[in-house]
Amino acid sequence: MAKLPLVAIVGRPNVGKSTLFNRLVGKRLALVDDRPGVTRDRREGDANLLGLDFRVIDTAGFEEDDPETLPGRMRAQTQAAVIQADVALFLIDSRAGVTPLDEEIARWLRSGDTPVILLANKAEGRAGESGVLEAFGLGFGDPVPFSAEHGEGMADLFEALLPHIDRPDDGSEEQEEEEPAEDGPLKLAIVGRPNAGKSTLVNRMLGEERMITGPEAGITRDSISIDWEWQGRPVRLIDTAGLRRKAKVEDKLERLSAADTRHSIDFAEVVVLLLDATRGLEAQDLRIADQVLQEGRALVIALNKWDVADNPPALFQGVRAALDEGLAQVKGLPLLTVSAFTGRGIDQLIDVAFQTRDAWSRRVSTGQLNRWFERAIEQNPPPAPGGKRIKLRYLTQARTRPPSFVLFGTRVDQLPESYRRYLVNGIRRDLGFGAVPVRLTVRAPR
Ligand code: GDP
Ligand code: GDP
Repeated sequence: MAKLPLVAIVGRPNVGKSTLFNRLVGKRLALVDDRPGVTRDRREGDANLLGLDFRVIDTAGFEEDDPETLPGRMRAQTQAAVIQADVALFLIDSRAGVTPLDEEIARWLRSGDTPVILLANKAEGRAGESGVLEAFGLGFGDPVPFSAEHGEGMADLFEALLPHIDRPDDGSEEQEEEEPAEDGPLKLAIVGRPNAGKSTLVNRMLGEERMITGPEAGITRDSISIDWEWQGRPVRLIDTAGLRRKAKVEDKLERLSAADTRHSIDFAEVVVLLLDATRGLEAQDLRIADQVLQEGRALVIALNKWDVADNPPALFQGVRAALDEGLAQVKGLPLLTVSAFTGRGIDQLIDVAFQTRDAWSRRVSTGQLNRWFERAIEQNPPPAPGGKRIKLRYLTQARTRPPSFVLFGTRVDQLPESYRRYLVNGIRRDLGFGAVPVRLTVRAPR
């Protein structure tokens, strides 16, 4: 893992530093000692702001300049934290205006090398307007009007932080682009209409009984799963009709209900939708595929019973076209041919399932993403509905599994669906996400 960028929160007492810290770190850290100031002298935590990850230090503030007193030592700690940090968030209380202590802290910050973002806190509901204006005079450029208590100004803070903590140009980016290898078992579900061949496929996959760690061990309150290994890599097969038969949990004939499918999808990373090559792609198959994609799972399509397929090339082409047409939101889903009977194609299917999980877990750096983004909006600028320009500013990947992106800009809420699709398709095609579901949400500053 790359080391997280470090952000220090500084400011005189009572300006809202701990409130901001708690908002960024997202949970209240237990106080181990309630003597004022003692536990507070350096609280650190991992923060996430709209998809940006960093480490944050809440410093104790600047009280008196006597190293022999507790406040004096706290001041030294604060200074050390700021020197180490990639950027300092300097808070003032915009309702109280700029105080002499704020000015003293500002002088000290200006004498150092750490970049400073000035946050005019407690500015919710315009209450701090005059304080925000006064804060210009501190010499750190435009103060960011902010409310730690109400969560206002988060998008502006994000924009202000981005240039300091993303470090796209330090040359170390290439190593950061790939997620560390996923080492948990591949959680795989096989779904499809009754008679598609799910149980036959499962039995074929598990073929060598000795590799199964035992269905009993995998039966939990609400899910049946079997752990096994494929070419040395762990796979967990989730709750399929075939598994249940194998586990002898139910003897009666299985029918794959919508609820069963939903259940398998919930626990899986990658879902294989098994089609019956003697029947082609039917409406119910598309509904299941759509359900998998809606849930944000990675989807692989396998055409089973290929051993008895009629006119294979035409069949393949037909299913390919029907898939791209019926699931236009993700063109190019992996489509494989298998025979659960003979075992042909199963190795490749599992291989593709692993690759699909990698894409589904992939993270691109904000730097790489925004270089791509600038080109994309240059080649095809966003429209101007009603003559008013939509301004797109930043794109960030907020999550993986499924890859989820947040787009910032002005009037982004008016971005037409076709333009969002343009971006989503480009992200998939150009940034290595292949045919996994990619989510894009938009956020206007404030
Ligand atoms: P610290 O001493 O700098 O860590 O400040 P705290 O986080 O303890 O906050 C001091 C007081 O300011 C508390 O009563 C907070 O509830 C209040 N406060 C913090 N942020 C805001 C804000 O954005 N608006 C308002 N109105 N009050 C805030
Ligand atoms: P499930 O309801 O999806 O679990 O389907 P089954 O595994 O019970 O299979 C339904 C029928 O299709 C059975 O008669 C299987 O023997 C047959 N079948 C399954 N896979 C293949 C295959 O690859 N080729 C052929 N020719 N028949 C298959």
